[in-house]
Amino acid sequence: MTAAPRISFVSLGCPKALVDSERILTRLRAEGYEISRKHDGADLVVVNTCGFLDSARDESLNAIGTALKENGKVIVTGCMGATPELIREKHPNVFAITGPQAYESVMEAVHEAAPPAHDPFTDLLPPQGVKLTPRHYAYLKISEGCNNRCTFCIIPDLRGDLVSRPAADVLREAEKLAAAGVKELLVISQDTSAYGVDIRYASSPWKDREVRAKFLDLSQELGELGIWVRMHYVYPYPHVADVIPLMAEGKILPYLDIPFQHASPQVLKNMRRPAHGEKTLERIRSWRDICPDLAIRSTFIVGFPGETEDDFEMLLDWLDEARIDRAGCFKYEPVKGARSNDLGLEQVPDEIKEARWHRFMQRQQKISAAQLQKKVGKRLPVIIDEANGTVAKGRTKYDAPEIDGSVHIQSRRPLRVGDIVTVKVDRADAYDLHGMAV
Ligand code: SF4
Repeated sequence: MTAAPRISFVSLGCPKALVDSERILTRLRAEGYEISRKHDGADLVVVNTCGFLDSARDESLNAIGTALKENGKVIVTGCMGATPELIREKHPNVFAITGPQAYESVMEAVHEAAPPAHDPFTDLLPPQGVKLTPRHYAYLKISEGCNNRCTFCIIPDLRGDLVSRPAADVLREAEKLAAAGVKELLVISQDTSAYGVDIRYASSPWKDREVRAKFLDLSQELGELGIWVRMHYVYPYPHVADVIPLMAEGKILPYLDIPFQHASPQVLKNMRRPAHGEKTLERIRSWRDICPDLAIRSTFIVGFPGETEDDFEMLLDWLDEARIDRAGCFKYEPVKGARSNDLGLEQVPDEIKEARWHRFMQRQQKISAAQLQKKVGKRLPVIIDEANGTVAKGRTKYDAPEIDGSVHIQSRRPLRVGDIVTVKVDRADAYDLHGMAV
């Protein structure tokens, strides 16, 4: 038996890139490659890059540099693969460059650099594929690409227009993951509420029925799996309201990750955001009427070209009214190739961007802390992410992994990762809850 070639793998970027990495790793393992923890001693390194912001590109270029130094044979894939000249300029010696979602070309490059070993026994795969996230939660990607053209974003240039997976395909993967022990599914895409638009909501056969590729229909079916289902990257279109009753009934988690990005109509228009004309505050109010414990997390950009002090104040007022649970804030970066650079709008000076970022964070931190305080005294189901005997860390339904807060738990009996336990919350700090398992 020949030794299996060893591949060292670096995964950078957002959850969507992580899903791509999982798919490539699954293929590698299926073909008998070994995954190495170190560059040194591996046959080659694959770097899955992120090219969204300039800072992410720098991180990607550094990771490629490290891999070249420690190993020498490097294949670059992912978002930065769409701009090979940028990579070659800094690292002329990379072995191959392939673009985002180009699984086939990554595999071709790997075959060329390190031909697979011929041992049928190494082809064995765990039934759920290879996952980079812990076993108890998994990302479920329902589509690729995006039909929107937000002016600050180059993702549609890198990844193309929306391509939705048939509903039955998504459900098959979700069921497999649940059967393999996954307790929480995180539904991701670039624009989850637009799911199926490109295939005119086509139905596909699932079990004894036909399921439409539609946000509501998919949510209903995922809600039947009996595990936690969390929705990310949802835009506030009117039809999102149809899904809120499923949250109130406990079928899917009462959680929406909506990248609002701003509140000023003028800034949103300059950003060409989807649903920019929607009255978001009214919409949030009506959702909370149906599902009072709905948690909303969002991201915002401050310092977008042309943003005035009035626009920014409008955003702060919006935060006060909306009282969303969690918010991330980015200072605008003029990403190379983004249309926002050519709108003829005045750039916001760096020191003003910085000051606005601080003002935003201060305002939202108070709101987030007050929202968390409301959970004190409650008994809440918590999924365990890390456990060390009777001390554990987990999350409520209101918190997604990696981006939101945690619950620090004491327990009389030992807890295990992936358990869902009831915790009596006895205190809250600025980000996290603390309590006792009951
Ligand atoms: S919705 Fe806008 S920000 Fe999101 S991927 Fe599409 S174009 Fe980019």
